[in-house]
Amino acid sequence: MTTANDLSRLSAKARDFIGGTKGLFIGGEWRAAERGETLPVTDPSSGDEVGRIAQASPADVDAAVQAARRALEDPAWARMRPHQREEIMLRLADLIRDEAGSLAEIETVNSGKLIANTRLFDADLSVHTLRYMAGWATKLHGETMDLSVPYLPNLRFNGFTRRFPVGVVAAITPWNVPLCQAVWKLAPVLATGCTIILKPSELTSLTALRLAELCDAAGVPPGVVNVVTGTGEVTGRALIEHPGVDKINFTGSTRVGQLIAEQAARSFKHYNLELGGKSPLIIAEDADLEKAIPGAAWAIYGNSGQNCCAGSRALIHERHFDAVVAGVAEIAASIRLGPGLDPASMMGPLVSADHRARVAGHVDRAREAGARVIGGEIVESAGSYFTPAVITGLDHGHPTVQQEIFGPVLCAFPFKDDEEALRIANDTAFGLGASIWTEGLRTANRYFERLKTGTVWINTHNILDLSLPFGGAKQSGVGFELGHEGILSHTVIRAGVMLDEG
Ligand code: NAD
Repeated sequence: MTTANDLSRLSAKARDFIGGTKGLFIGGEWRAAERGETLPVTDPSSGDEVGRIAQASPADVDAAVQAARRALEDPAWARMRPHQREEIMLRLADLIRDEAGSLAEIETVNSGKLIANTRLFDADLSVHTLRYMAGWATKLHGETMDLSVPYLPNLRFNGFTRRFPVGVVAAITPWNVPLCQAVWKLAPVLATGCTIILKPSELTSLTALRLAELCDAAGVPPGVVNVVTGTGEVTGRALIEHPGVDKINFTGSTRVGQLIAEQAARSFKHYNLELGGKSPLIIAEDADLEKAIPGAAWAIYGNSGQNCCAGSRALIHERHFDAVVAGVAEIAASIRLGPGLDPASMMGPLVSADHRARVAGHVDRAREAGARVIGGEIVESAGSYFTPAVITGLDHGHPTVQQEIFGPVLCAFPFKDDEEALRIANDTAFGLGASIWTEGLRTANRYFERLKTGTVWINTHNILDLSLPFGGAKQSGVGFELGHEGILSHTVIRAGVMLDEG
């Protein structure tokens, strides 16, 4: 098996961008980290270092926050008309569209993901996100109302509200959909007139840095978009603790989400948390198995299981349990692992050797507990490959079932009736997504109402749309991004009262 990306296949644009040492983008200029520290950029298919990024210090973060604050108050941005912000966003969308091929290549080399995936879910979806959010720039509005102040019967008042940008936004993103996550954070900022300091994951920072260059080329004023790279412990922490930040928009693990909520509580920052998941995929007695079996396989194996909404727990009506497990295992065995740049690969490596060790640890603990494990093996190679797994026979309370694995590992459970399925489905600390596979409208509706998750899919899984609010219940998050909710959460409302002397 060829495991390493063939970098000679890269376009010249991608190859030129990947190499060398990248700087920080602060106040519209590129600069090295103040202490000169850097971190490696690794290709997960080979484990090779392919470039370096800057390790931003707290002083670098402070410079970025100050630049974002100045830009927020600068009339060049603060007084810019909504239609002008919309035009800039549409220009940026066009630039990303024109570079979609090389952006996808950069992402594939940096993250290990398949090229078809980085093209569709990073590059193309970023274009759609900017276009969708650009439309909101001209549609933000408040309300007017006649006031009834009962204790002042002789006076009349007019009431109104207006929405203003929430301010300086610190956006921190994970490594699984790097460019798209960055654009999901950036687009509402531009639409509402906020400013941003983006800190991408230290594992996959390259496309965020290219995005900064494209923002500049699209005419985003200096300081409106700043990108600082570095570890969570140093750069991320300095950002969330900075008093000049008004809102934190975070996507990542529940552990870090908790730190952010604690920090935000102390300083009264606004925040949005898009966190982990352990999403159930439920196959009802009346499901169409021809759709449900491949649906279940790709709900967990897509993007090597590195999806926050991955269908990592399959709850299967007992009548279909053996057939579904056998069907999913057959698909798992047919998946061709290989480097992301090779169009014949069906699953790339995991993002890093450390992450693979964590995933393998979860599977080992399931084996030790006596579960039956099909697949779930480390592939001997320099890349961080791991074969897709199906696990049966585990107790639902086992940590491998309860904790997020973020890898291609499915735990399957039989159920007798809807009550049991709903009880198991809701029995984790998470509540991000869930899917119900059924041919019955009543069944679909019953599950929709009783699944405690931010999204419920019916006969599909993992479909997100820009017009739908995306967020989690329980420990999967606070607030929503995308849709109208995602826009409103980047604004603050101000109430106005005017004496009516007419
Ligand atoms: P992570 O929480 O380790 O890191 C996410 C980001 O937070 C990175 O940029 C990291 O550098 C930063 N960070 C780490 N420690 C920090 C700290 N102390 N202070 C400030 N920032 C810090 O998560 P990850 O491993 O990069 O990504 C995987 C996780 O992301 C999974 O839990 C997954 O479910 C979640 N995720 C959620 C969604 C969603 O929309 N709900 C989407 C994608 C990924």
